[in-house]
Order: sequence, then C-alpha cells, then structure tokens
Amino acid sequence: MSLDNIRIVLIGTTHPGNIGATARAMKNMCLSQLYLVQPKEFPCAEATARASGADDLLYNAKVCEGLDEALDGCRLVVGASARLRRVEWPQFAPRECASQLLSEARQGSVALVFGRENSGLSNAEMDRCQYLVHIPANEEYSSLNLSMAVQVLAYELRMTSLEKVSSESKSDRQVATADEMEGFIQHLKQTMQDIRFSDPRQSTRLLRRLRRLFNRAQPDNDELNILRGILSAAQNCKL
Ligand code: SAH
Repeated sequence: MSLDNIRIVLIGTTHPGNIGATARAMKNMCLSQLYLVQPKEFPCAEATARASGADDLLYNAKVCEGLDEALDGCRLVVGASARLRRVEWPQFAPRECASQLLSEARQGSVALVFGRENSGLSNAEMDRCQYLVHIPANEEYSSLNLSMAVQVLAYELRMTSLEKVSSESKSDRQVATADEMEGFIQHLKQTMQDIRFSDPRQSTRLLRRLRRLFNRAQPDNDELNILRGILSAAQNCKL
C-alpha cells in the first residue's frame, strides 16, 4: 500500500513525548515509517508512554545522523512549515500535499519532514524539500504542537488514500450505458402501467424523478438486469 512508502521525518526533536505522540498519530492513520534525525533523547520512557500502544513504530524507527540519510532514495520531499514562506519554496495546501505524496508513493519512497519545536526547519533543511506544506491555522498563532501537525497531515493522507481506493474500485465497475438505462426506464414505465400504478398521461413527472433516482445510483448492467427481472415478475403477476 502506498502509505507504507511515506516517511515521517522529525528533525532534532527536543521533547521525547512529542516523538511518542507522533508515533500514535501515525499509527492511527495507518502510517508506519518513522525517521528521527538527531533526536535529543531517544529511546525514552516518556516517548513509549505517549505512544500508548504504538510503540512498535518507535521500536522500528530509524534514527539518523543527518537529513540526507533520512531522505535517501526519496522521490518527493515535502517540508512542513509553521509559517508561510516566501516564493523560493513552492507550497502545497495540506490536501494537495496528501494527493501528491500518495501519487508519488505508488512508485517509491517519499518524505514529509517536520522541524524542531523551538525553531522549526532551517533554510538549509528547507532547501532539501521540493515543496513546503503549511496548515492554514490562525494567522496570529499558527504554530501547532509538533505531533498535532503530524496528526493533521497524516489525517489528510489517510482521507486521500481512502478516497483513492473507493474511486479506483468505482472505476472498475462498468456503469450501465445510456441505452441500457433507457431500456430499463421504458420497462419500468410499461410495468407501472401494466400493474396500474400510474396512468401514462400523468406519469411524465413521476418518471422523470425515477430517472433521476436511478441515474444517481449509477447501476451497472447486472444490477439493471436484476431490477428488470423484478419488473417482469411483477408484470406476470398482474391480475
Ligand atoms: N517555532 C517554530 C515552530 C515549530 S513547531 C517555527 O516558528 O517555525 C514544530 C514543527 O511542527 C514545525 O517545524 C513544522 O514542521 C510543524 N508545524 C507546526 N505548525 C505547523 C503548521 N501550521 N503548518 C505546517 N507545519 C506545522
């Protein structure tokens, strides 16, 4: 799954509790790859306590000497920034960021990089990011707690991955063609008359509403055939 190719990289984290809370936020959203660049204190009991059952992520976390090591082999690197930056760094909105990361993650590793609690990311670290992402918080108070920033962006990744799965499975289905739908509607119209549910002269508006209903459901041809089977059975039952 592409979420497995997404690395969450924390640089120079000062509070081990934030590392634990990040692991928890990640596991809730089905992310697993945690990279720690020069954490101040790790491993640490406080991190394990705050991970609250997500300690497998801490156990498997890769502790790195430098950012290069954490980004090794990544196709796309996005840095999370608490401040809106100048134009040198192109920016993504959180949802756009999730969509781009997930698309690239189908082909290989990608990274989402978070800065230190007190000073964020340095310019040199941002240079390693092709894009920045900013959570549009209160402009006068825009800096989220590190693990909460991870939570928000991880949630966007999760939502986008769920949407992608459902749109992919939807697109595998062959929605009935206009002709097939018309055949069904005519069959429905005839049946409604046969069973004396409606008078053909007054049924135009009713039929238009039913058309809208069935078009909205986007049935495939098999489903239309089931419905037509029911209509035929009803026609055969007429007194
Ligand atoms: N004082 C720092 C903020 C550090 S918060 C500064 O002003 O830069 C720690 C990290 O959480 C940040 O480096 C960033 O990666 C992430 N973060 C916090 N708020 C964010 C926001 N609004 N949008 C994106 N990332 C954010």
